[in-house]
Amino acid sequence: MHPFSYVRAESVTAALQAAAGNPGAKFIAGGTNLIDLMKEDVARPAELIDITRLPLADIEENDEGGIRVGALVTNSRLAYDGRIGARYPLLSKAILAGASAQLRNMASTGGNLLQRTRCYYFYDVATPCNKRDPGTGCSAIDGVNRIHAILGASEHCIATHPSDMCVALAALDAQVRVTGPDGERTIPVTGFHRLPGDTPHVDTVLAPGELITAIDLPARGFAGHHAYVKVRDRASFAFALVSVAAALELDGDTIVDARLALGGVAHKPWRDPEAEASMRGRKATEETYGEAAKLALRGARGYGYNNFKIGLARRAIVRAMTTAAATS
Ligand code: SF4
Repeated sequence: MHPFSYVRAESVTAALQAAAGNPGAKFIAGGTNLIDLMKEDVARPAELIDITRLPLADIEENDEGGIRVGALVTNSRLAYDGRIGARYPLLSKAILAGASAQLRNMASTGGNLLQRTRCYYFYDVATPCNKRDPGTGCSAIDGVNRIHAILGASEHCIATHPSDMCVALAALDAQVRVTGPDGERTIPVTGFHRLPGDTPHVDTVLAPGELITAIDLPARGFAGHHAYVKVRDRASFAFALVSVAAALELDGDTIVDARLALGGVAHKPWRDPEAEASMRGRKATEETYGEAAKLALRGARGYGYNNFKIGLARRAIVRAMTTAAATS
């Protein structure tokens, strides 16, 4: 691990000041991903700005009838909060499908958004990787790519975003609140993570020095018909090969509204408005879900070892929508 300096911020303003004009600095909260990256020599921050004492750990009603989740709320606390369980059970289930209890106890909501890919080559500093060292190449495209992307990838990177929580947040149309040198702004979760393009080293649209302060959950939480289906190599403590966050609003057996977000298949949680629109006004049947699944995967491409994910994702979508319709 490379030497770094450490400072504990006592206020949001102090944290922003410490980060301003300091490109080698990184904010640290739970550290469940960043410390691993530092130990593996993948991340080499010159300075860590400890934000764990900032007043960003509340879960409270927001002005729009939804709930604001402070960036420092731990994943465990969020998943087990009674208001989240009652109004946003899809979010609770997605969080509890991820990591382990120990990691969820440490990991923060803001940090979950910023966790980096689990591509094996990204962590192996002996191999080329455009995300770790821009311009060196992508070892995964012609390598072992079983866990890699089938949607939205580029010739420069086929990594996936590993979060479960973010897949549910994308389905729910949550918003990320950030503050930085140019003031506060709000970013839809669906627009927060980037596709790799020719700059795969840039994971999100956060500007230098910006700090996530909260997540806003909208009033509508799809507490009735919802499901989070995660397909993985073992039953716990494993990242998704494919995951699906599904939510439905039904009138009898007719679909009034549908939400569908995929994890484990792209560089970001994957929403497909056309696939969702295809279900509205139709009967809640396997045929409807199957056609939506085909639409959602219409641009999918495998890279060899991960070809199986295309069919797996289609089937997982049908299973998630079927489960959501049966859940109340
Ligand atoms: Fe690096 Fe992305 Fe290629 Fe993995 S898929 S080796 S993260 S460039």
